[in-house]
Order: sequence, then structure tokens, then C-alpha cells
Amino acid sequence: MAMYDVMIVGAGPAGLSAAVNCRVRNKSTVVVSRKFESPSLSKAPLIENYLGVDAMSGRELYQRLLEHARRSGAEFLEANVTGIYDMGDSYAALTSAGDVSAVAVILATGTVQSASIPGESDKVGMGVSYCATCDGPLYKGKRVVVVGFSPHAVEEANFLSEICSEVTYVPASRGGSDVSHLKPAVNLAKGSVKAILGDMAVSGVELDSGIVETDGVFVIRESVPAERLVEGITVKDGAIEVDRDMFTGVPRVFAAGDCTGRPWQVARAVGQGQVAALSAARAVDKFKASGQADQ
Ligand SMILES: Cc1cc2nc3c(=O)[nH]c(=O)nc-3n(C[C@H](O)[C@H](O)[C@H](O)COP(=O)(O)OP(=O)(O)OC[C@H]3O[C@@H](n4cnc5c(N)ncnc54)[C@H](O)[C@@H]3O)c2cc1C
Repeated sequence: MAMYDVMIVGAGPAGLSAAVNCRVRNKSTVVVSRKFESPSLSKAPLIENYLGVDAMSGRELYQRLLEHARRSGAEFLEANVTGIYDMGDSYAALTSAGDVSAVAVILATGTVQSASIPGESDKVGMGVSYCATCDGPLYKGKRVVVVGFSPHAVEEANFLSEICSEVTYVPASRGGSDVSHLKPAVNLAKGSVKAILGDMAVSGVELDSGIVETDGVFVIRESVPAERLVEGITVKDGAIEVDRDMFTGVPRVFAAGDCTGRPWQVARAVGQGQVAALSAARAVDKFKASGQADQ
């Protein structure tokens, strides 16, 4: 498994700015992003307020930012990050393309999604999962429910049907998925999800049409809830809490851009990405010098 100084999660303006500035500080850097695009910028018809740059579409501006970051010498990995774990001397990210390790982490994942199903957040790792590729093998021969908030949830359910004894697919009310592609082995549930049940571990899913007993629930969204990505970060009013150095309070973990709150703007994201990079570079140097985690 490759080991980097800094791992940046997300390739929007904040993540790309962080990458350029980590490389300026000569840190080995990997940017892991679900896609090399910005879901926000790609929707912006015209950006007129980014200093020194003539008005242009969000897509065009993004291509310029991406080209700059690619020239910086950072590495780029297209993958979804589903969890980042403290290994003591590094952080290991579980991604759809395998594990990635780094001394410090910068979260730049864009606007924050929070765990939203009652019973979800307290059962992560105890039956609630966010990635079939990563955790599917744990449920070999068992019953699972897939709650699909995102179009690729159907693919995840189909994959699970190859290894699990029973797969039930619940299309969530938002983010519609095309259930016509579900394999015949997958049961399509009627009704929407109300709660995930169980005391310590998951025992079932409550739908408005009744209860489905299950060993595990895969909640498939476009993005993993921010507070689940790294244990210990605080999410308040839809934003990851950071200090002026973009420090989250978790040793060597920083955050930048829309994930830290409003105003949702490119200039702010780029500026915060730079501050996070400088803070992460400092933290890496300190950590390597002393072998102790203080930031
Ligand atoms: C319609 C519209 C118009 C706008 N107009 C303007 C404007 O005129 N001026 C302006 O300054 N701003 C504007 N904005 C806002 C601007 O686009 C955002 O502030 C900016 O893109 C935020 O950058 P970011 O890097 O924080 O997040 P994003 O650009 O949202 O990037 C987040 C990145 O994280 C990745 N990601 C998320 N979760 C994961 C995960 N678990 N694993 C791997 N990768 C992950 C995503 O794929 C993406 O690459 C507009 C936004 C919209 C929607």
C-alpha cells in the first residue's frame, strides 16, 4: 500500500488548491476523489467573481484548476472514500480502489451530507455500511437491505446478490435509481425507509409497509456522511467544525471548502485549501520529527 505525506479527499477547488500547496511544500500528495470534477462548479453557468479570471463557465474554470493541480506532481486516484481510520503512525482510507495511507488528511468533500435515517449513525460498523465493494464480503451468505439514495445503488445491490443469501432493495425517496436494472435475485421493497432497527447491532429495517429482518444495511448515497468519514470530527449545522488553521481537532486531520460551511464560494474554497495544506505540511513535519501526534 502506497504511503503519502498528505491525502486529500475531494477534487473540487478546495482539494486541488490543497494539492498544489502541499506540493509547493514538497509533501508527497495523493488526491482521492470520486470523480475528477466538481459537482457544484459543473452546475455554475458563469463564474464572474473569481479574482483575476475573466467570467467563464464553472466547467471551464474547473478544467483550469485541474490542469494546474495535475502539473504540481500530486498523484490522483479516482475512488470513493468510505472511511478513514487512525492507524497510529498514519491514516488509512478505505476506498473503492483499495486502501490508501497518509500521515495527514485534508477533507475537501464539498457540501456536507449528514446521516439521516433514524438508527443509522449509532450502528455504523455494527450492521450499517456505506460501500458494498468494501464490506460486502462480511455479509457472505447473510441477509442484507440496500437503501438506495443514489443511482449507483442498484449496481451495489446486484453485486451483493452474488454473495448474500437475500438482498432487499429499498429505493429512497430522493436521488431516484432505475430499478429496472435490478437482477431478479434482488427483492424490491414497497414503501420507504423509516428507521434502522436493533439494539447493539442491526436487526431489521422499518419501512412504512412493514419490517424487513436483516443482518446488515447498506446505505448508498452519493457521499458518505461527513461525520462518518473520520471518527471524532464534529459536524454542526451541516458543516465540519475547524479552527483558523483548518484543523478539525482530530490529530493531523484538516478540512477545507464547502464542507466547512458557508459562504459556498470558489475563492473561499481555494483559500481554505491553501491554509489546510500549509497546516498539514507543518503537522507532517512535526509528526515525523517527534513521532508524536499533536496536530
Ligand atoms: C449553481 C451554482 C452556481 C455557483 N456559482 C458560483 C459563483 O458564481 N461563484 C463562486 O465563487 N462559487 C459559485 N458556486 C459555488 C462553488 O461551486 C463551490 O463553492 C465550490 O465548488 C466548492 O468547492 P469544494 O472543493 O469545497 O467542493 P466541491 O467543488 O463540491 O468538490 C467536492 C469534491 O469532493 C469529492 N468527494 C465528495 N465526497 C467524496 C468521498 N467520500 N470520496 C471521494 N471523493 C469525494 C467530489 O467528487 C468532488 O470532487 C456555485 C455553485 C452552484 C451549485
